[in-house]
Amino acid sequence: MGLMRIMQDRQEFNEIRDTLRQANIKVTHARLVIYRILKHAKRELTAYDIENISLQMNDRINIGTIYSSLKLFQTAGLLQRYKVDMEQSLFSLKQFDHYARFICNHCGAIEALQDHEIDQHIKTLCHNKQATYVSFSLIIQIESCDKCNDKSDKNT
Ligand SMILES: [Zn+2]
Repeated sequence: MGLMRIMQDRQEFNEIRDTLRQANIKVTHARLVIYRILKHAKRELTAYDIENISLQMNDRINIGTIYSSLKLFQTAGLLQRYKVDMEQSLFSLKQFDHYARFICNHCGAIEALQDHEIDQHIKTLCHNKQATYVSFSLIIQIESCDKCNDKSDKNT
């Protein structure tokens, strides 16, 4: 890791530390790491995704710590939580919630759906309700995705 990279990391950790402090959350190493993983995620994550990523970063965070930190972040309003089924929840930082996505019930794959008409329709609904639009999220659960369908074709 070069010096530039370390400097960037340090600046990023300082920003995250400030964000947590502003939310009245006690700053710990684990919370910094979890927040950073969520910040860099290109999609919503489960607690187990976060555990796996922390393992890959050689900075393993205990699953119990991940759950308690996510709960803290959520209570502080930093985090959006989507319930997928009885056992599974997906988490993302609040700024990442402006589009719809498909979730495969079979393998859990998530596919983003960019649909200008849905965006527009939701904004119109808010307008008609005389409410100021902030953000929306929409989860469409599908029985199986393209990848799952391909696999089952080959088996038959
Ligand atoms: Zn699938």
